Amino acid sequence: MSIQFSEDNSTPITSSARLQEDRAEPSLRPKTILEYIGQEKAKENLQVFIDAAKLRNEPLDHVLLHGPPGLGKTTLAGIIANEMHVNMRITSGPAIEKPGDLVALLTNLSEGDILFVDEIHRLNRAYEEILYPAMEDFAIDIILGKGPSASSIHLDLPHFTLIGATTRSGQLTAPLRDRFGVTIRLELYTPDELKQIVERSADLLNVKIDSYGSYEIASRSRGTPRIANRYLRRVRDFAQVRADGMITREVADAALLSLDVDRCGLDAIDRRMLRSIIEFYGGGPVGLDTLAATINEDAVTLEDVYEPYLLQSGFLTRTPRGRCVTRKAYEHLGLSFQKSEQLEF
Ligand code: ADP
Repeated sequence: MSIQFSEDNSTPITSSARLQEDRAEPSLRPKTILEYIGQEKAKENLQVFIDAAKLRNEPLDHVLLHGPPGLGKTTLAGIIANEMHVNMRITSGPAIEKPGDLVALLTNLSEGDILFVDEIHRLNRAYEEILYPAMEDFAIDIILGKGPSASSIHLDLPHFTLIGATTRSGQLTAPLRDRFGVTIRLELYTPDELKQIVERSADLLNVKIDSYGSYEIASRSRGTPRIANRYLRRVRDFAQVRADGMITREVADAALLSLDVDRCGLDAIDRRMLRSIIEFYGGGPVGLDTLAATINEDAVTLEDVYEPYLLQSGFLTRTPRGRCVTRKAYEHLGLSFQKSEQLEF
């Protein structure tokens, strides 16, 4: 089974979801921990677990990777497989449509293999129970037939490592979450880290780019490598057609503006979100569902895809009573700042 790319043509290019145009991603994926830029804490922890498992000559404990889309969860799983010198099978929660799919995946694994389950929070709850004994005791019990004549067979599985990736660890059931020995949270990348990623990708793609050009792309990529690599490819097209093929700050700026990515990396939906909080809710606080209904977007998308970057870049704050915009958001939108009445007490 392979990685799935969204066919949805209406998804904006600013989205951190996998799009058809990201098909070239595998060629840009770092293969070793050394090549994997940023996420220092995650890498440090992981290196210890990998070294310890190798010393004991045992498979790595099950790993849960969580964080917004496009931050490198699949990439990191591939690196773990590489460093452990084992094979990795890839599937995703929604791709497992019946219990037999999961049983087939598990019984086809070899000793030490990694099973990578992307979007594990979307795995059918009823099938999750197959995973509990598989993860804990490396065995599954299959019930054959129904009613009084039903019988069960016990199958031993090879010692494997499950790597689950999720954008919403809160949606995982407690029994599943507890069975992961290692949990790693990936954070949005800084512009400097993304600059290194853009330069590495430009090198692999044979794209000419100067330091200002790579920083311009990096600082507008919402802290997300997938978006940085996508912008790099788009800006390269622009540079080839409109400039002499070299990506400079000016070329990157013009290309990104033409894609409606503003100088802070916000797109039309980000701006609509901020503007609506100001115009309809006096700057906030406003609940996420209310806001989603106001701008006609999906609440889950707003929370998983838009909000992390708006929070990280200081345009939005989250309070117990809802979301509030900051002075920086007013200034960015060219509106005069009015302190939210509802916050003045
Ligand atoms: P996720 O599984 O979290 O959605 P991916 O692992 O598919 O994200 O990463 C998307 C792309 O971003 C990869 O193809 C890879 O080229 C790039 N990438 C992600 N993390 C890094 C990193 N730390 N260093 C370099 N490139 C990265």
